[in-house]
Amino acid sequence: MTYSREIYDKAYHIIEDRRREAESVAQQHTDRVYREIPELEEISRQLVSCSLGAARAVLKGANTKEELERLAQISSNLQKRQQELLASNGYPANYMEPVYTCPHCNDTAYVEKDGKTVYCDCFLKLLIECSCDEINKLSPLSLSTFDTFKLDYYPYDSNADGVSPYTRMSKILNFCRNYAINFNGEGKSILMRGATGLGKTHLSLAIANEVLQKGYYAVYVSAPSLLARLENSHFNYNSSEEEQLLQTLGDCDLLIIDDLGTEFLTPYSKSTIYNIFNNRLLKRKPMIINTNLTVRELQDVYSQRFVSRIIGECDRLDFIGKDIRALKA
Ligand SMILES: [Zn+2]
Repeated sequence: MTYSREIYDKAYHIIEDRRREAESVAQQHTDRVYREIPELEEISRQLVSCSLGAARAVLKGANTKEELERLAQISSNLQKRQQELLASNGYPANYMEPVYTCPHCNDTAYVEKDGKTVYCDCFLKLLIECSCDEINKLSPLSLSTFDTFKLDYYPYDSNADGVSPYTRMSKILNFCRNYAINFNGEGKSILMRGATGLGKTHLSLAIANEVLQKGYYAVYVSAPSLLARLENSHFNYNSSEEEQLLQTLGDCDLLIIDDLGTEFLTPYSKSTIYNIFNNRLLKRKPMIINTNLTVRELQDVYSQRFVSRIIGECDRLDFIGKDIRALKA
């Protein structure tokens, strides 16, 4: 695990808030039933004194077994009475107990596994989530939805191949909606290809929005700025930032790489792109790759083998039409 101190702190903060909230609700519930049913408060006091008695008996040592059995019996009767009182007053049996978000670690971040204390899965998920948030802070993720995607900007007149941009884009829009609806964190990737300004970024962000709302982690990055940032960390020997970024790009459920092929090409950027892609393809984790290069141009930039492999893993969407940003303006 290679997350920064800030990411750990942020995740701890969230989990602590969850725990405090659960405990504060339980306390409010307890106060309420004590007011309504004073016998319950008395029972709680006796339960505490039972467990103190048990601890004392263990420390003393003599006749421990008999004493412990006696106390266990008293405690069990008290608990029965407690349940009866709650039920007869219309409260669920666990009304005074905290209901934690994670029942495995009770929102503490830690669990026991094979005699060792380890991070609970819920905390590991939080780390990924916080890390995705961190990257997405820099992108216009919230601005694009399917509802704000306007087909009216695409002409009805057919192109040379007999398909109108309007028809093509309606199909692409449908495809993207279905992709988002059926997204389950694994399976096929998408290659969005076409000139600048035809809606590739908009639709991929719309998918990201839906996927995030379904509780998956989606990360959006543009290839040039991502590689500039990675390269900067790499050559300034800031290996922890570089590792964390790469880790998050590998861990998130959906990775969107915009403008592939427009990054500044160096041996480092090329090998990093190879690594990111290979890593995700191996884990069968989906990506949305946007490029305004043709397949031939992509092959010239990267290798034929690499590009064929990507195309094999992707559903390919070819965007057609004129730059709609000019039309919108
Ligand atoms: Zn947990």
